Amino acid sequence: MAMRIGRYEIYPVEGGSFSLDGGALYGIIPRPLWEKVSPPDAVNRVKVQLRSLLLAGNGRNILVDTGMWLNWPEKSKEIYCYNYAANPITESLKDYGLTAEDITDVILTHLHFDHSGGAVLNENGIAQPQFPRATYYVQKEQFEWALRPSDKDKGSYIDGTYKPLMAAGVLSLLNGHTRLDDELELMVFDGHTRGQQLVRVFDKDRSVFYAGDLFPYAYHFKPPCVMAYDLSPLVTVREKDEILSRAYKEGWIIFFQHDPEYTAVTVGKNEKGYSVGARVQI
Ligand SMILES: [Zn+2]
Repeated sequence: MAMRIGRYEIYPVEGGSFSLDGGALYGIIPRPLWEKVSPPDAVNRVKVQLRSLLLAGNGRNILVDTGMWLNWPEKSKEIYCYNYAANPITESLKDYGLTAEDITDVILTHLHFDHSGGAVLNENGIAQPQFPRATYYVQKEQFEWALRPSDKDKGSYIDGTYKPLMAAGVLSLLNGHTRLDDELELMVFDGHTRGQQLVRVFDKDRSVFYAGDLFPYAYHFKPPCVMAYDLSPLVTVREKDEILSRAYKEGWIIFFQHDPEYTAVTVGKNEKGYSVGARVQI
């Protein structure tokens, strides 16, 4: 039984996993603290889930993020411990009786290769949108940043995951906060990268917030826990506090893209600050 918010039924879409260096994921947090929640492998890597979100209702099937780049050479697959099916998102959509043709909208939180990777399919050397009927949404600022990233973050972009979308005319570039309808909004954050858009689906009683790379894991609720990848860590700290304070007050459900342990939780509060509240079944 799917969770329902307003006109939307909400489903997790599992896209497999990969692994990243634990130090990069947990930033300045010392390993003796984080290894209790993320036991690293022999070379200090921790598991990172690739969990997309499906919102189905009102004649639309909206997919939030498209998982990992599908065309890695074997060497990269070993370095990052890639563990997923040949086309994991479309495989997972089958669980809900859907094919790529059924997706009407694709919201890309940002264009890092583990978020926009499955947006494009390469077949016989031809790159085309994997979801042929969909409009793809991304922030204009993020698209422009991806075309000219900094030397710090250029390794996070593969232009084959988004340039073909522009060429096919399916990309809708957004300018800041956007309401797609009266129960669906895109909120913009600039700490992790410029113009990361995160989804809130809501009705009068409840909200589900797709946490993307603002809170990769539930552990990132802690203010100093900021990924080494972030372009502006202090902006991330402020953005996390703003969201946690509102989520706590309004009882939002936080849906994690990357946490292997938690899919969705509420926000609690104790003497140390915001904490992981109750687990929520989605
Ligand atoms: Zn990212």
